[in-house]
Amino acid sequence: MRNLTQPDLALLAFAREVKPHAYAPYSVFRVGAAVYAGGEIFQGVNVENAAYGATLCAERGAVMAAVAAGCREIDAIAVAGDSESPTVPCGSCRQVLAEFNPAMRVIMGGRTDEVLVMSLEELLPEAFVRGYLDQDEPGAPE
Ligand SMILES: [Zn+2]
Repeated sequence: MRNLTQPDLALLAFAREVKPHAYAPYSVFRVGAAVYAGGEIFQGVNVENAAYGATLCAERGAVMAAVAAGCREIDAIAVAGDSESPTVPCGSCRQVLAEFNPAMRVIMGGRTDEVLVMSLEELLPEAFVRGYLDQDEPGAPE
């Protein structure tokens, strides 16, 4: 758990701002996310699908936007969901976030003023990251 800063609150405001655009007709659980990378803000929302497996979370939507803009390192992400307590990223999103900075700051909010701030390493210890695919690792392809 980290101390909440003004930049955290500013990023969370971007996540809350975009949340109404979420497409969540099935779960009716809207989520907005805002990534801070390369000095810019990238937003995303959850986009559900009638084929449930095709659904994409807000966090990954925001990451894809940042990557499409050329960013390869993410400083922080804010997540704002419809839950009473702060909405935390799912396991798949934690893994995707780890690709772009295992130490990034994660700011989480819900419907109340309660805000949770953690590092991604706290949310996903021992993440599987690029280094495991180095040629020197046992089991790596020749
Ligand atoms: Zn997710």
